[in-house]
Amino acid sequence: MIIKGIAASPGKALGKVMIMQEIPKADPEQKRTVSKEEAISSVDSSILELSETMKKLIDQYHTQGEHIKATLMETHYTMLRDRLFHDGIFKSIGEGYSAPAAVARSVEEQCRLLDSLGDSLIRERIDDFRDIGNQLICQIIGQNYPDLSNLKEEVILVARNLPPSLLANSNSKKIAGLLLGNGSRTSHVSILASNMGIPTVVGCGDISALENGKRIYLDAVAGQVTYNITADEIAFAKKEIEKYHDRMLKLQMFTQTAGCTADGVRVHVLGNIMDTSTTDKLIQDGADGVGLFRTEFLYMNRDNLPSEDEQFAIYKNIAEKLGSKPLTVRTMDIGGDKEVKSLSLPSEANPFLGYRAIRICLDKTDILTDQLRAALRASIYGNVKIMFPMISNMDELDRALEIFEQVKKELLHDNLPFDKNVQVGIMVEVPSVAVMANQYIQKIDFFSIGSNDLTQYTLAVDRLNEKISNLYDYFNPGVLTLIANIIHICNHAGKICSLCGEMAADKLALPLLLGFGLRNLSVNPSSILMVKNLLSMCDTNKLGVLAQKALEMESAGQVRSMVQNYLSDQYQSWL
Ligand code: PEP
Ligand code: MG
Repeated sequence: MIIKGIAASPGKALGKVMIMQEIPKADPEQKRTVSKEEAISSVDSSILELSETMKKLIDQYHTQGEHIKATLMETHYTMLRDRLFHDGIFKSIGEGYSAPAAVARSVEEQCRLLDSLGDSLIRERIDDFRDIGNQLICQIIGQNYPDLSNLKEEVILVARNLPPSLLANSNSKKIAGLLLGNGSRTSHVSILASNMGIPTVVGCGDISALENGKRIYLDAVAGQVTYNITADEIAFAKKEIEKYHDRMLKLQMFTQTAGCTADGVRVHVLGNIMDTSTTDKLIQDGADGVGLFRTEFLYMNRDNLPSEDEQFAIYKNIAEKLGSKPLTVRTMDIGGDKEVKSLSLPSEANPFLGYRAIRICLDKTDILTDQLRAALRASIYGNVKIMFPMISNMDELDRALEIFEQVKKELLHDNLPFDKNVQVGIMVEVPSVAVMANQYIQKIDFFSIGSNDLTQYTLAVDRLNEKISNLYDYFNPGVLTLIANIIHICNHAGKICSLCGEMAADKLALPLLLGFGLRNLSVNPSSILMVKNLLSMCDTNKLGVLAQKALEMESAGQVRSMVQNYLSDQYQSWL
């Protein structure tokens, strides 16, 4: 029997089900048997104790460089300290409810509020709120919160929802897989699982057929799970897992080799990061550096902006680890789907077309100045590059470069050392820049094509809207024509052209990008070895013609089938 879901973190596992122990819940109708003052004081002291525990964990995660876990815990900390949440609790206590019931009522009130906002990303924070509420209830009633930190045997964890804090504190070596009834690819628990390397399938719906201790086969590549498993299915699963591990092992040989095509053309394969935690993996896999540091994650889920010194410490740390390999620091790309609380940005009807990224930085120049100072100061510890996102006209680039020069002057004046030759570039992700690439490249050192945004802006398709996701397609010949143009112009100018959107790790897109002349790719850390493997099967002598043909096609579908038909059997076996 098969249950289908969404593959949220790749891998395959055969193992015993461990149904997550139910988290103690409070009866929201329970009346208090103690005085109002006593109930309030028990809530106050429990919030304080829980806050202290969280603060310690945040520090611990930061010290260990586990910034995703730290960010998650910081979100929880902020939620726990939320005024509205507290007001709700105290109001219910005033109405005669017990302390745990009052917490449960206030949590549900907050969740209803989040739900009513109708934003899918905000809605995903509902699970985080329930997680906090349950922790607080356990603290009040003195009951242990479930603990995954000392699992004795390897299991596939099954739950309708898994509080992200529980996963963050788990012993991931004992979790062979994770299966959730709810959740999406972008929920916190999925991001964490992927960061921790746990094969994960989410959004499975009804999972009541799964029983504790029974064996299941979790295929987090296809996004499904087999239960009531027969002997034949077990044998099949074992073979599949072996095949998967063989592949992963085969890919290991690419840790030592540089990205290179079958005809000997060197292709630089860099990684995209959003905190320091994946840098080691990237170096271990022999990446050529960091092609995109999404620094906006340093600004998210906190009440204040990161200071210059705080940023400097982070950039310095990564730059030192990378040595002579580049660390491309993209200045804050907030807005669109990424929110920064401390900026109190008003909501907009069309956030992706609104006040975001460089537009904010050129308006609130202190933010940009702090960031540029931090990145420039870190430049003497490695090979730092700076990149501006979302440039849509020349005035923006001129102004950003002007501020960059001004910051350098100030650092000289302050006697703070920096590398005078730090390279500066832009993301090409707006069509107005793509078509005039020739003018822009004259003023900077490199381009990085942001195919995620370039696709949405060229096709007028919101990249987050599931209803029209079939229209979001970078194989569209219009998008490909722009990409080919950017690469051609940049190469012709003798400057570096990279591509750092998801397209860079797309197995079908890779031959086309090489055919257009692209020699630098920046991909998610988990794709570095696979991309090097695929490169070794490509012959650039033949790809120019293939890429040219793609530009003459009428539709994305036609381009895809043409590439598919062209690929060797060996390459196809990795698709
Ligand atoms: C892009 O737009 O392709 C890109 C890499 O930036 P982000 O996905 O962070 O918008
Ligand atoms: Mg972008």
